[in-house]
Amino acid sequence: MDTVFVESEEHRALRRAVGDLGRRFGPDYYLTAARTGGRTEELWREAGKLGYLGVNIPREYGGGGSGITELTIVLEELGSVGCPLLMLVVSPAICGSVITRFGTEAQRRRWLPGLADGTRLMAFGITEPDAGSNAHRLTTVARRDGDDWVLTGRKVFVSGVDAADAVLIVGRVADTGGESPQAGRGARLRPALFVVPRDAPGFEYRPIPMELTAPERQFQLFLDEVRLPADALVGDAGAGLGPLFAGLNPERIMAAAFSVGMGRYALRRAVEYARTRQVWDTPIGAHQAVAHPLAQCGIELELARLMTRKAAYLYDAGDDAGAGEAANMAKYAAAEAAVRTVDQAVHTLGGNGLSAEYGVGALLVGSRAARVAPVSREMILNYVAQHTLGLPKSY
Ligand SMILES: Cc1cc2nc3c(=O)[nH]c(=O)nc-3n(C[C@H](O)[C@H](O)[C@H](O)COP(=O)(O)OP(=O)(O)OC[C@H]3O[C@@H](n4cnc5c(N)ncnc54)[C@H](O)[C@@H]3O)c2cc1C
Repeated sequence: MDTVFVESEEHRALRRAVGDLGRRFGPDYYLTAARTGGRTEELWREAGKLGYLGVNIPREYGGGGSGITELTIVLEELGSVGCPLLMLVVSPAICGSVITRFGTEAQRRRWLPGLADGTRLMAFGITEPDAGSNAHRLTTVARRDGDDWVLTGRKVFVSGVDAADAVLIVGRVADTGGESPQAGRGARLRPALFVVPRDAPGFEYRPIPMELTAPERQFQLFLDEVRLPADALVGDAGAGLGPLFAGLNPERIMAAAFSVGMGRYALRRAVEYARTRQVWDTPIGAHQAVAHPLAQCGIELELARLMTRKAAYLYDAGDDAGAGEAANMAKYAAAEAAVRTVDQAVHTLGGNGLSAEYGVGALLVGSRAARVAPVSREMILNYVAQHTLGLPKSY
């Protein structure tokens, strides 16, 4: 039996197997990479070989033929043992889903097998310096030039570009050829997604110094008249919001799984510590001031996990509208639970919570980032206020 609430034996087996893989590498491996400017390539490659990175990619393109449900299990379990791989949110979940659903046969054959086995990596760029949460203000513009596309614009905070073969860029198509990006903002433009190889002439990426302790780095992108072949466009130019939305629901669902995994890891570390650390006559975990907040964290993580399962279930069932609401709620609940849990874990460890040796304080910024990205807490509250509750819009 597999309902949204109760996992099948197959899913439990996947959890165990992925957890075993993550433990073989472990938090020291992850943190060393994060602190020394390294990457987690060995773990990524191994996860790819074992078929975990591509569980959601169709079998005919080298994947596991399952869905986002299974991919959330992979991400959550790796996170729960201290190895949260951010690029799982981006490469197989966003880019893999968009190309599977809207790519041509040639695009699928070119990209999906590599995304599935981890030999190729794709980043995703939507955020712009002057647009931020307001995607309607995107000014990255593609114009036609013969059969080619010529893309110009800027992106910010794009994760993992240094390791990626290409970036899936969200731009807009100018109605008439020859428009400048500045002209683009006022013109009637349509969103369009382009695969931009990292080595394309005119494409430049610069790291943004961040306070995150993570092996994945964020980048500013500069696209200066980047010339792309016709088949760089994923979905046709008039496809509207379909291709973009095919990526955004998996992004939110996976972001939720990322937070739940990190929260579970922090909670386990705190509980282990609270069981053994003794400064009076009993372990500190016996004090209710220590135990109750941790119990609350356990409840909130479990609730967030359930909502994440529901969102993934709806997405995999093809209910994009239902998945949209659930994905937003799951992402909100999971980010809030992770922020609270990591903070509580740090507190439970006292001074050790902020020491490099214990590695729990290293999660503070990462858990906090989930409240901002990929969509901020307020934008989710706006969504629920308007779409779920029917309240009017202020912006
Ligand atoms: C670690 C990390 C990784 C990221 N990776 C990627 C990536 O791979 N690709 C990518 O494209 N982007 C990425 N981002 C960017 C991320 O998606 C954005 O930071 C996020 O969407 C918020 O946009 P912004 O930073 O421009 O904030 P802004 O939009 O400027 O918002 C600033 C604040 O104002 C609030 N606000 C804005 N509008 C409203 C409103 N209408 N009502 C109420 N409050 C409002 C927001 O909630 C927020 O608190 C990443 C960011 C981080 C931190």
